[in-house]
Amino acid sequence: MDKRGSEMTTSRGKENTGQGEKKDLFVEYTTDRRTGCYLSRFQVSCLILGNLFILCTAVALVAFVKKERVIYGTSMPDALCSCETPKPYANATLEYYYVKNQTASVTAWSENLVEVENTTLANGSVRQEKEETKVIPEEEVVAPAYEPWKIIRLSRDLLPLLYDIYLKVDLEKLTYRGSVDMYLHCTKNSRFIIFHISHLYYEKNSVRVVNNATSQDLEIVTQFRYARNQFFVIELRSELSAGTVYRVSVGYYGYLHEDLRGIYLSKYVTPSGETRRLAATQLQSTDARKLFPCLDEPDMKAAFRLTLTYQEEYEAISNTPRKSECMENGWKTTTFQTTPIMSTYLLAIVISDFAHREVVLENGYDIRVWSQPDKINQTEYAIGIISQCFKFFTEYFNITDVLNKTDHVAVPDFSGGAMENWGLVLYRETALLYEPGVSSSENKLMVTLIIAHEVAHTWFGNMVTMAWWDDLWLNEGFASLLMYFAMDAIYPEWNVFTLSVVAKEVFPVMVKDALTTSHPVSTPIATPDDIAESFDSISYSKGMAVLRMLMGFVGKEDFQKGLRMYVTKYKFQNAKMEQLWDTFSEAVDNQYDIRSVMTTWTRQMGYPVITMRAQADFFHLTQNRFLLDNNNETDVNGSSDSFTWVVPFTYITEDDDEVQLIWMNESSAVIPRTKDRWILANHEFIGFYRVNYEVSMWGKLAEQLHLNHSVFPEANRAGLIGDSFNLARAKLLHYDVALNMTTYLKHERGYAPWTAFMDSVEYIRSSISKSGAYVLMQKYLRDLVAPVYDSLDMTMEGVLPERYLRQIILKLACEVGHKRALKYAKEMFNRWMREGMTLPSDYSAVIYTVGVMEGGLEEWDYVWNRSQATNVAVEREMLMSALGQSQKPWLLWRYANWIFDPDRIRMQDVRMVISYLSKRPLGRMISLHLLMTKWDKLNEQFGFDNFLLREMIGEVTQFVNSEFEHNQLSTLFKDKPPKVARKETLNSLALIKANINWMNENYDVITKWLRNHVSGML
Ligand SMILES: [Zn+2]
Repeated sequence: MDKRGSEMTTSRGKENTGQGEKKDLFVEYTTDRRTGCYLSRFQVSCLILGNLFILCTAVALVAFVKKERVIYGTSMPDALCSCETPKPYANATLEYYYVKNQTASVTAWSENLVEVENTTLANGSVRQEKEETKVIPEEEVVAPAYEPWKIIRLSRDLLPLLYDIYLKVDLEKLTYRGSVDMYLHCTKNSRFIIFHISHLYYEKNSVRVVNNATSQDLEIVTQFRYARNQFFVIELRSELSAGTVYRVSVGYYGYLHEDLRGIYLSKYVTPSGETRRLAATQLQSTDARKLFPCLDEPDMKAAFRLTLTYQEEYEAISNTPRKSECMENGWKTTTFQTTPIMSTYLLAIVISDFAHREVVLENGYDIRVWSQPDKINQTEYAIGIISQCFKFFTEYFNITDVLNKTDHVAVPDFSGGAMENWGLVLYRETALLYEPGVSSSENKLMVTLIIAHEVAHTWFGNMVTMAWWDDLWLNEGFASLLMYFAMDAIYPEWNVFTLSVVAKEVFPVMVKDALTTSHPVSTPIATPDDIAESFDSISYSKGMAVLRMLMGFVGKEDFQKGLRMYVTKYKFQNAKMEQLWDTFSEAVDNQYDIRSVMTTWTRQMGYPVITMRAQADFFHLTQNRFLLDNNNETDVNGSSDSFTWVVPFTYITEDDDEVQLIWMNESSAVIPRTKDRWILANHEFIGFYRVNYEVSMWGKLAEQLHLNHSVFPEANRAGLIGDSFNLARAKLLHYDVALNMTTYLKHERGYAPWTAFMDSVEYIRSSISKSGAYVLMQKYLRDLVAPVYDSLDMTMEGVLPERYLRQIILKLACEVGHKRALKYAKEMFNRWMREGMTLPSDYSAVIYTVGVMEGGLEEWDYVWNRSQATNVAVEREMLMSALGQSQKPWLLWRYANWIFDPDRIRMQDVRMVISYLSKRPLGRMISLHLLMTKWDKLNEQFGFDNFLLREMIGEVTQFVNSEFEHNQLSTLFKDKPPKVARKETLNSLALIKANINWMNENYDVITKWLRNHVSGML
């Protein structure tokens, strides 16, 4: 999200007319950029008409006729450069009204509007550095009787209206120094002001509390930090009175580290070998307090007015367009337009020397994509997709983005995949950049998905935000579902719902959610660590899946209607899950009680398995919680498994392909029986549940697969494999039955069933990888995949599902040693290495892997050097992934240890390297050894990064299945518990126990089945 100060806006002439702040602020929002939403117009209209929603809908009916204009390279400075010192925002309340798109409490608050001239904390007046303020340990605080700072959540006695932030970022000294004026509206008399601060040094004498109406200072009795809750506490002599606006000012400074949190340092190397610096931000979830003191909770929404000073060779961008800019003594100062009302975690800054590409839509909406200058060619794909996604979602929600621009930046160092900061979306490079001819189809899909996800957040997350982090899934589940809507509209031929939703998201999360260590989608959380842990696949993928199920039974039209109503109703506000369900009930005219249906899916962890038993004339259905490890009686999370879900149960039969829906409100239900004919449940795999048939019914389904598998939707063919293997793993079905569902695959050309199969069988392959049956399994897989491989041409033609299929078939064929496939890959690798041939991008990942697997030190070093030389991030990932799959232990050990060397492996890539190593048995042994022998070092170096450590533990231990290793890990985690990710250590131990049980119970059965089938196929 590198954002430049340059602004595309036309006339700025009305600014600084000397008519005071009020006029200036108004002009700021009437800048004529869009046909649609001007906030101030909204605001004023709402005040007059008192009816926001009608207006909102009306102005949003904007026809998008796209007119593109593409600009390469960095922009010219803005012609209008005012070096006037901006005035402080005495009239914060008024500005708040201009940007806040709602009418609540206007009358009460407007009584406090008094124009006051005040020069406190004027922009540019950098304070004298004071000595570092000591953090007072808890026990030393002489606490008055009432100690509100000990409560982890902030009170709502003070609500922020506006933050006026000034920040000077020095990319040479790697420091930042700033001041903030917080305009807080008091709702209840109190002597305390509490806000968040973390990793910042505050300047003690800078702290002031002023009555915004009278400009009078309030006397401060004590001020201290309460580190445990990351609080700053001010105790006043007199009480703040309800209904009054106060200005709280704090000066502070901090340091730029490469820690990927708050405002941080990132770097890149130019083609000529010069290292360049940039500053970027990542504030979600609780790191806004690391950038500036603030009330850092998502429902404490406010407007933000930001001024940045930085070295003049850089450009700064933020959420909103630049308002003014000036240069002085080698420093540039940029002031940005006030943001919409939004949560603190959405603020963003990038200060860099990046290049950008730009498109302006017909309605004036300005889209820019930024990257390192020599990668700007790789942004062409992204900007097209961003435009299409904006167009799609604007029409879908019937509400335009309230900002008039959006910047998207590929940041060289980034902790997650991407971050949806309003107006300034940041990505890791692989998530935004796309190089035709080098990036594969998979990369294309990923880039498209991530962009669509981030753009969807404009409405879900940014405009409407969850009230607290326990409903993070509202943001993430919706963005994760909506991204597929956009993709399906852009690429209907990709069949993304089957290709990606079912195979790539729903199946994997169903495995995770079937463990006793799972958690409900909506789960109580309090601390920053809890919050960090909630960013997991349960929030994203299960959240998405249960919403998809909701869409399945209310229908697409009513689903869209519900979403529109919800976003319109809660725009610029926060909402709770119940409010969402009630809005949906309203949308379907109370045809369903959505709240009571959906609560069973979001407040309970796990999901049901529906078991079908044949009676005389009907099938008897029962539901039970599905658990992978049935030996575990109690949950780690303390819940019992006596759960019941309200299940929308769908099915088709051999005689009737019309989809039937029945509701299972209780633990059992009945449906008519189809004798001697198959019945297939969970049509299109829309329901988040598994189905277990009687063995004879599984047999009928298997027969149909052999006869003509295309009778079943592709998602269901995948589902039959996914369900049967998971049921077998949970001891609810014999492995024979599950394995019988796979023999038809010789004829299968669908991507989803093959993926479901490879994922399902992966567990077996990995578990038996150190035993004799492994050879049999490899042979069975070879027999299945060989005819499919031999029937495909390794071209790059066709639509995405076809290309995807060829990719995974080549991968599997090479893994199991199909000679033709290996020969192809080896030859391609050699020609690439020796002759510099360009590889077909879809297959290059497999080809690199085969080259490294079959090669030695020379091949390894060559691939490593190429990974360091390429400027295409996805190519680097493919090459680095291949390196983790060498069959030489010493090379793998050397590679694993490089994670401690940031000059070789960047901090952001550590997680990836661990996962590359965990792809094969040998690498898994090496990475487990690393985890156990370098545990202290891992914690020391990465212990602050919850996400990284959690992923690492999960990856490395997922297939461990010996008592010996379980005991070793258990002792390690107990003796040296990690500072973060403790929950993951419990998860991992529980999973290992389940793995051990699995081996004891299934090894012989599977070996026997394989022996029968492999010999039969010889
Ligand atoms: Zn998201």
